[in-house]
Amino acid sequence: MSIIASNFKTNHTRKSTALFINEVNEYLKKENILSEVYVFPTATSLDFFETEANFIVGTQNAYATASGSFTGEIGTVQLDEFEIKTILIGHSERRHILGETQDLIAQKYEFYKNLGYKIIYCIGEPLEVKNQGIEKTLEYIYEQFVGIDTNYENLILAYEPVWAIGTGVTATNDDIKNVHNAIKEKINKPLLYGGSVKVENVREICQIPNVDGALIGTASWKVEDFIQIIENTK
Ligand code: PEP
Repeated sequence: MSIIASNFKTNHTRKSTALFINEVNEYLKKENILSEVYVFPTATSLDFFETEANFIVGTQNAYATASGSFTGEIGTVQLDEFEIKTILIGHSERRHILGETQDLIAQKYEFYKNLGYKIIYCIGEPLEVKNQGIEKTLEYIYEQFVGIDTNYENLILAYEPVWAIGTGVTATNDDIKNVHNAIKEKINKPLLYGGSVKVENVREICQIPNVDGALIGTASWKVEDFIQIIENTK
């Protein structure tokens, strides 16, 4: 059984999200799908999922707070309204574009762990680190576990090399295998791969040992592609 997750990032309107949900729901109702399906829409569309989704809905981000003075952020008071209990933490765009430090990420992780949230925790190295070889890559990745309780029962990991995210360049099967084997040896949790996964390569990637599914951005935004991705891994 694979875990398949869609990250909308800053894409889709409320209208197109509603259409997306309908189509995925219809498909999941018709087919006997064993995959565990997650969708991370924008915060403005989280409410659609309260009653309507046949899959698990998570937030792409939230602050480590119930409520308070954190301009632009949301907290659990808002998430509770829609019964959201799943969060993405450590995504490379938040680390590298929004400047989240490991300290902040660990703080969020601890907060949402203590509330029992399902956490999809992302790790992955930039190109200049990858180019220094597997040992440096693993060293870099292990730094991203500082302050993170990897024994947490509701943890799913996602290995997402920064150089493969949104670039159309997928890691080779060997790259994926090497990193996944090393992480799994240390941390026995479900481990997804993310980075330019698409309809054409998802089956092969999910068949690599120690790959438990995929976290998908770009190729999941067209609903027909997302459905085909689920279909290809069932
Ligand atoms: C992501 O944002 O988690 C991701 C893997 O993006 P993409 O599929 O576009 O590389």
